[in-house]
Amino acid sequence: MIIVTKRNVARETLDEALNLLHQGGLEPRAVSWKNQMLLVTHRCPSSAEIAGLEKTGIVDKLIDTNAKAQLASRDFRNEASIVEIEKVAIGAENLVIIAGPCSVESREQLLEVAGAAKRLGATLLRGGVFKPRTSPYEFQGLAEQGLRLLAEAREETGLPVVTEVLESEKVDLVSKYADMLQIGARNMQNFSLLRAVGKSKMPVLLKRGMMATIDEWLQAAEYVLLEGNPDVVLCERGIRTFERATRNTLDLAAVPVLRKQTHLPILVDPSHATGSRDLVAPMSKAAIAAGADGLMIEIHPNPEKALSDNHQQLNLQEFAELMKELGLFATAAGRKLR
Ligand code: PEP
Ligand code: MN
Repeated sequence: MIIVTKRNVARETLDEALNLLHQGGLEPRAVSWKNQMLLVTHRCPSSAEIAGLEKTGIVDKLIDTNAKAQLASRDFRNEASIVEIEKVAIGAENLVIIAGPCSVESREQLLEVAGAAKRLGATLLRGGVFKPRTSPYEFQGLAEQGLRLLAEAREETGLPVVTEVLESEKVDLVSKYADMLQIGARNMQNFSLLRAVGKSKMPVLLKRGMMATIDEWLQAAEYVLLEGNPDVVLCERGIRTFERATRNTLDLAAVPVLRKQTHLPILVDPSHATGSRDLVAPMSKAAIAAGADGLMIEIHPNPEKALSDNHQQLNLQEFAELMKELGLFATAAGRKLR
């Protein structure tokens, strides 16, 4: 249950209510949510417990929910949430296109991609600088030097920047340069990292774990929300199945399923989902048709030479063509592209 407390309740009253809930074994969590204080309990209080709580005078509203991810649920908030990053609103009428290279490789590469992304209508710039690579021998990213390049690209283009953070210890560093923190598929259930990005209060792009159910994914989002960070965006990027023709299996049904269950914005990453550049355009269109709030697409000036994910990145010409085609699909889905 979520107890929305009245505004300006005295600290002592709050403590009294928390004590009451503790005594009943309800394990309450006090969450400072925008400008309200919420008490979230892990089970529903009995009617006697509710009566006791009402007596403290703290209760503004009680939200009864069976959802495991309570703050992510539609029971808590029935309207779609919009996550704002600078002037970009994720979850609003305009579709958000996050574009950029898999990895930041050099100043020339990044500035070329960033300029093209901006010109062609992307709304956010991506680029990995801490790369979660399967092999320790593969390119691991430019680390802080890459963060500085991302900041320079933002300066040049005005595009806000999203980049992955792999470890809790690096959250402060990445937050100094980026506008949004990405939690990658491999870290979706890294609970200490989820808590750390929650505490940072930075907008968070939470990618689906490749073996995660929708339920587990929403509960991962709940870790961030429970730290009082409401700015979480979900990104479907495919799950691992028996199918080998694609790198992952893009679970597009997740989009309408999530839409029913959560108020959080939902993006789709057709690049990591398919692993092949010729599948990015059709699956981008399908994602828009399924109701996604936007896309994350990997682009590179010379994909064949890319230091990571060279099979799936679009070249700048391919991205230009895709952006041209997506306008119609956006309109058909009742959305706008820019
Ligand atoms: C990425 O977006 O850079 C990435 C590594 O994706 P994922 O975590 O979805 O594999
Ligand atoms: Mn990649």
